[in-house]
Amino acid sequence: MFDLKGKVAVVTGGNGGIGLGMARGLGGAGALVVIAARNEEKSREAAHELRKEGCNAHAIECDVTDEGEVQRLFDEVSNRFGRMDILVNNAGTTVRKRPQDLELHEWRYVMDTNLTSAFICCKAAYPLLQREGGKVVNIGSMMSIFGAAYASAYGASKGGIVQFTRSIATAWAPDNIQCNAVLPGWIDTELTQGAREQVAGLNERVLARTPAGRWGEPADLAGVAVFLASSASDFVTGTAIPVDGGYSIS
Ligand code: NDP
Repeated sequence: MFDLKGKVAVVTGGNGGIGLGMARGLGGAGALVVIAARNEEKSREAAHELRKEGCNAHAIECDVTDEGEVQRLFDEVSNRFGRMDILVNNAGTTVRKRPQDLELHEWRYVMDTNLTSAFICCKAAYPLLQREGGKVVNIGSMMSIFGAAYASAYGASKGGIVQFTRSIATAWAPDNIQCNAVLPGWIDTELTQGAREQVAGLNERVLARTPAGRWGEPADLAGVAVFLASSASDFVTGTAIPVDGGYSIS
């Protein structure tokens, strides 16, 4: 039920953090995994790391905010691997400022990276996903649910991801394409290491509020990725699943 042998997955931003955790899960379940991110060297190293663990992993350089680059990504995936079954829209960023201090170009940068990229990738991947049915996994956040003073653009993009997921789930259900969102809690990655340095007391607040009593690890996201990418979730679509050690229910 969770076997992904013969499937081809693209994970945007898969060269580190949560994306790499999900790529490792998908590769371990048998999928051929393509890591798509801007930093080519980091992506090559991540693919190499996964291959050493027995996964079939490849790296393709791509800025997911650029429609032309995204089209080239899926053309290359199609030409080299012959199919594309699973798309994980994970690439993301943030600019931590109060709304009144956020510049318009910073707002656009966050929205483009976190939300518009998912639209661009989904649109370009659709003809491939449609062939035999497929899976889209979009990465939201606790900021899809909660507000935060330093996350106006980030929160808008992550709230948007949930609604975008519902729209494509509805539109593409007749094509047997299931689309779901994952809402990670506080996960220890480069992104949150920056936040921990910037925001005094964040580490303690996260630990106190998370019932599981710890930060998540990228590996905590592997299982949900495999579930949402496999036939185990064929009747699951349009959902937003928190993977947060209970943060959102406490
Ligand atoms: P990281 O900073 O470790 O990873 C971000 C990834 O996105 C990198 O691989 C980066 O690769 C890639 N990326 C950024 N911009 C682009 C772009 N324009 N084109 C292609 N790739 C891009 O962060 P996380 O692993 O923490 O975050 C991954 C996702 O999870 C994000 O969407 C984030 O919002 C979300 N998330 C994270 C949480 C956490 O606690 N860590 C909590 C909730 C959600 P490169 O620089 O090489 O392009």
